[in-house]
Amino acid sequence: MAEQIKAVRGVKDILPDEIGVWRAVEQVAFSVLEGFGFEEIRVPIIEELGLFERSVGTFTDIVQKEMYVFKDKKGRTLALRPEATASVVRAFLEHQLYLKKRITRLYYSGAMFRYDRPQKGRYRQFHQIGAEIFGGAGGNYDGELIVAIVRILERMKISGFTVELNSVGCPECKAKYGAELKKFFSERSQKFCHDCRTRAQHNILRVLDCKVESCKSVLAHAPIMSEILCAECLGHMNEVIAYLASIGVSVRTNPHLVRGLDYYTKTVFEVKVENDENAVAGGGRYDNLVQQLGGPSTPAAGFAIGMERICAVVAVQEMKKPAISAVFLGEKALRDGTPLINALRSRGIKIAADYDDRPLKSQLKTADKEGTRYVLILGENELERREFLFKDMKSGSQQFVSFDSIEQFLKGLIDAADAHMR
Ligand code: AMP
Repeated sequence: MAEQIKAVRGVKDILPDEIGVWRAVEQVAFSVLEGFGFEEIRVPIIEELGLFERSVGTFTDIVQKEMYVFKDKKGRTLALRPEATASVVRAFLEHQLYLKKRITRLYYSGAMFRYDRPQKGRYRQFHQIGAEIFGGAGGNYDGELIVAIVRILERMKISGFTVELNSVGCPECKAKYGAELKKFFSERSQKFCHDCRTRAQHNILRVLDCKVESCKSVLAHAPIMSEILCAECLGHMNEVIAYLASIGVSVRTNPHLVRGLDYYTKTVFEVKVENDENAVAGGGRYDNLVQQLGGPSTPAAGFAIGMERICAVVAVQEMKKPAISAVFLGEKALRDGTPLINALRSRGIKIAADYDDRPLKSQLKTADKEGTRYVLILGENELERREFLFKDMKSGSQQFVSFDSIEQFLKGLIDAADAHMR
């Protein structure tokens, strides 16, 4: 046999069994975001490398180590996007969207690429649903973004999550805090890993994100940002907290929370589910990015949810819509039954059919093995009585349902499953 080609390291196929959960998350996320007034934008997967260098930051791990960079046939240096905020900002400027609305709310979804070390929950191609607000400077906007994430998680019936919040301050606070952290670091530099020592030279705040245990234990005693914040930054942070409290969303402040992208100012946040180290979502404010990319001064904030991570926590069985299959016993049942099934399909009911003439017992065995929830059985007797034999494979119960009422009956089941998902 010829040698098989496998998917490249760190990327994965999303198989039919997983699609139900993916689609459910997408539908819920899009509907929640649209409910907050966000509009969809679709931006390209390839961009000029410079866009990410100028936004994510030249000295971040993402730009330094994790970018897929290549030259096209004309010698342009392009990159596969490691995240989409930079692209959304570029599009916002390129199409002068800031002229259309005072506050612009945009959301996106799609594949991102980071040449990271593959491990649980960490892929080289992964997918995000993200949202950005342009034009809003107050803490209420940051709060709204966090509420949107919380609503998405709640609608997906995910419980046991925590929202961690911090402020990395305005550029002045950041610089002041950086100086304090540098002092703390240089007094203990021998205790830090090699990567931290490099980070300390270029972007001291990045050391706070180190995952090495020995670094983490030293950093537990590092200076705290909130003690350094100016009145405006502190006021902003309090506004975010007050907004969330007014909606009944609880957050935990984590004074050492930083994020892997340089553009953040003031608010940063992450959402973690139960004891998982990996965040399912993260984001924050980036008041200087639009200007940094050549646009007018525009306050902005956003977040991204990791699809692989959120889908992993959604209970797969809970999300499965009822799968229905039709079984025909004998030639006459097949001939007369096929138009009935097709009529149901054209009314929006999804039904898979097995047209092969096999005994009922083995048909049911297949349905059971493949996880089909409901089976519609049509034999000659049923045809004569103008009814289907309906079998629920989960409970084992069965009943006759007339041709006239089958549509209503199946729609009732589908609606009940949908309501369960909501
Ligand atoms: P970031 O773009 O780094 O702010 O990350 C936002 C979210 O994207 C994270 O909270 C994760 O859920 C997800 N994410 C980031 N990097 C990866 C990755 N390499 N693999 C899977 N998910 C990721």
